[in-house]
Amino acid sequence: MQKRSLRYEGKAKRMFETDDPDLLIIDYKDDITACDGKKKGIIKDKGIVNNRMTNYMLRIIEQNGIPTHYVQEISDRETVVKKAEIVPMEVIVRNIAAGSIARRLGIPEGYELLPPTLEFHFKDDRRNNPWINEHYALTLGIGTPEEIKTITDYAFRINEVMIGELIKAGIKLVDFKVEFGRYEGEIILVDEISPDTCRLWDAQTNEKLDRDRFRYDMGNVEAVYEEVYRRLVL
Ligand code: ADP
Ligand code: UDP
Repeated sequence: MQKRSLRYEGKAKRMFETDDPDLLIIDYKDDITACDGKKKGIIKDKGIVNNRMTNYMLRIIEQNGIPTHYVQEISDRETVVKKAEIVPMEVIVRNIAAGSIARRLGIPEGYELLPPTLEFHFKDDRRNNPWINEHYALTLGIGTPEEIKTITDYAFRINEVMIGELIKAGIKLVDFKVEFGRYEGEIILVDEISPDTCRLWDAQTNEKLDRDRFRYDMGNVEAVYEEVYRRLVL
């Protein structure tokens, strides 16, 4: 598989065209951002952790019957994926209150959310990815009723698969963000699943093992990313 032109450079990844028009190569960077992109930094080897953890999770999710964009890991930082038409929506699933739900609704951080809950945000960095609901998603033409239903169903199933996998590594899944795309007429899971896009707490101590350490200047960011990788993937 040959890398061709750079298609897109985002905050955390570069996407390259390939000699196959249906496939892309993702190249994971060490750049980290928080606070709607206003806070920036570099975490050494984060790209390796995020590439490997994403692929580990996507393979398991695929085995559980949910189609994903994963094709093949080709290096520490690079993976071949199916080129999807992105559904411009960030889908967040929450098991435990933290971050914006705690701030917005005054729910104490750490409060268990039963049943787990789900949010849609319109993917628009200039407007800081505003909250939308399924009615907005239909009105804005983001997806058909069937697609929104499939995305909702997949998101909760992915949650169940990830909870089960992470707890074996002594990690609680607090919340996470996923994205979906269209490929050959079907909805597939795309993008990444990593400590950048999930809140992960140590199951015994509730120590934060994710991007919040960077957001809140808690230190040891590199070490906790390595720790998640070591417990889960190695
Ligand atoms: P951002 O765009 O927020 O800066 P990234 O640096 O993670 O984020 O860039 C990756 C971009 O590639 C995202 O916009 C994401 O929606 C998109 N993407 C992820 N997987 C695929 C895929 N399989 N096909 C097409 N686009 C994808
Ligand atoms: N998230 C993400 N990208 C975003 C927004 C959120 O990966 O653009 C993830 C975030 O890391 C967390 C979950 O989605 O795991 C919920 O984030 P929240 O709404 O609490 O936002 P925040 O506290 O980051 O403002």
